[in-house]
Amino acid sequence: MARYIGPVCKLCRREGGKLYLKGERCYSEKCAVTRRPYPPGQHGQARIKLSEYGLRLREKQKVRRIYGILERQFSSYFARAARMKGSTGENMLSLLERRLDNVVYRMGFAATRAEGRQIVKHNHIHVNGRRVNIPSFVVKAGDKVEVREASRQVKLVQDALAAFERRPQLSWLEVDKANVAGTVKGLPLREELNEPAIKEQYVVEYYSR
Ligand code: SF4
Repeated sequence: MARYIGPVCKLCRREGGKLYLKGERCYSEKCAVTRRPYPPGQHGQARIKLSEYGLRLREKQKVRRIYGILERQFSSYFARAARMKGSTGENMLSLLERRLDNVVYRMGFAATRAEGRQIVKHNHIHVNGRRVNIPSFVVKAGDKVEVREASRQVKLVQDALAAFERRPQLSWLEVDKANVAGTVKGLPLREELNEPAIKEQYVVEYYSR
């Protein structure tokens, strides 16, 4: 699938908060949201009140940008979530969280989801002992995700692992740092997905217009 390849800090500034798209820089004072806390562009500092529709559009865009997905693929996640039992918003977040590129990021083998995607695409990841190079692959409970042995010393992976503790730790993933591997213990828990904060109900309302 295609992906966004433009500048990312302006995405955070547009959404009005950190989306953590640049790894270590996001935690430093160089973060663009800290330095210029207003939307990008010539009229970024103008005071604009968002409409009800605008609020929902921004929330949808924010979630899409957090996970690095373009509109067509994102709307198909929503459609899939709507067909599942239970809350559509939570189902959608669960599907997004279980993408392999996100799991690689959450386990600390990559500094960002974009890096996670690259690591997956470049054949560094094995799931249950078999190579998987599809970033949108959805993991399930019990899956073992590991960086293949020959890739464990890759600088990208080692640097990301060194900074792992600073990121939110998730109870549905068990990480074995020494072996650069992890296990999916269950489904993602909604209450653990609050950094950055997400109002998934707005996304549901956006697509239900
Ligand atoms: Fe850039 Fe990261 Fe700050 Fe977003 S959170 S503006 S990606 S440095």
